[in-house]
Amino acid sequence: MQDFDVVIIGGGPIGIACGLEAKKQGLTYVIIEKGPIVNSLFNYPINMQFFSSSEKLEIDDIPFISKEAKPKRNEALEYYRRIVTSNQLNIHLFEKVLNVEQKATSFNIKTDKDTYKAKNVIVATGFYDLPNKINVPGEDLPKVSHYYKDPHFYASQKLVVVGASNSAIDAALECWRKGAEVNLIIRGPEVGQRVKYWVRPDIVNRIEEGSIKAYYNSTVKEITESEVVINTLQGEVTLTNDFVLALTGYMPNFDFLEKLGIQLSEDGKRLPTYDPETMETNIPGLFLAGVICGGMETHKWFIENSRIHAPIIMKAIKQKMALEDKT
Ligand code: FAD
Repeated sequence: MQDFDVVIIGGGPIGIACGLEAKKQGLTYVIIEKGPIVNSLFNYPINMQFFSSSEKLEIDDIPFISKEAKPKRNEALEYYRRIVTSNQLNIHLFEKVLNVEQKATSFNIKTDKDTYKAKNVIVATGFYDLPNKINVPGEDLPKVSHYYKDPHFYASQKLVVVGASNSAIDAALECWRKGAEVNLIIRGPEVGQRVKYWVRPDIVNRIEEGSIKAYYNSTVKEITESEVVINTLQGEVTLTNDFVLALTGYMPNFDFLEKLGIQLSEDGKRLPTYDPETMETNIPGLFLAGVICGGMETHKWFIENSRIHAPIIMKAIKQKMALEDKT
């Protein structure tokens, strides 16, 4: 069984930052990623533009040059891929971590391909795997998706977009521009306030001129092969429909965290327990990094403010190992 100072679960931007920092600190490490490098970013919409400017997405002060101030998905893929390859980071791709077992002074990390031993484990698994379901009849129909990729697919189609945040608004605008007939279903009274400041006026104007039809204070009641039924303040409305994009956010894999023994807060936020000074959880030697820290509050953490987790954790691990060496 391979033995490491640290095993990092998840090869997103923050898992990569942790691997880079481990390497700099002379620790033995492996990053285990169930998909390709930066799997979540790879699965973002093809035309997606970050709300952060490129320097705020940099890790370890490695310059991120983008054409515009705010980079596109393709540029971010290039940036993080080059960090992995040019630093020859030890990353195992397309390998899924199934469980982490705590032993006396170490952990056994079981994947779908192998088992590893490590003194420390970092969970950097993000939140993009599990969509927040809208829980209505018909949600499992093949025409319904919780992930949006390419507007071309929806050209000349009747599309319902559910949601009021960045993902939903970007999808609604792009698909309308490629010739889809777009109905936007918004649970609250307005387009989300956190929508990118340069996109919000665009969607508000498209709604006001009637190009995109928005139903505010409305929820989906049912989806059928050819229709979507919505509840509005004026009563039930039935829309003829070809496709539904239910873009109502994503959540961390709480089952995985609980299986590892990480305590979650009992309020609706399900915040995992960790010490912000070290990022160590209630299980000694088990750390959290990246957006996984936010529980249900997925909007609180992003690359910009969580890239700092990598040096914090490696400092804590080095201190712990120095103490162990003395005893
Ligand atoms: P992720 O990038 O999600 O990485 C987690 C990785 O863990 C994934 O690659 C996943 O495949 C892997 N994984 C999960 N479970 C396992 C397992 N059991 N075994 C092995 N691997 C596993 N943030 C910004 O700072 N600025 C922005 O402008 C911005 N724009 C965004 C736009 C969109 C549309 C979205 C959805 C998010 C955006 N974010 C932005 C948020 C940011 O992209 C994420 O916060 C970022 O990906 C977090 O990095 P991470 O490494 O913590 O998690």
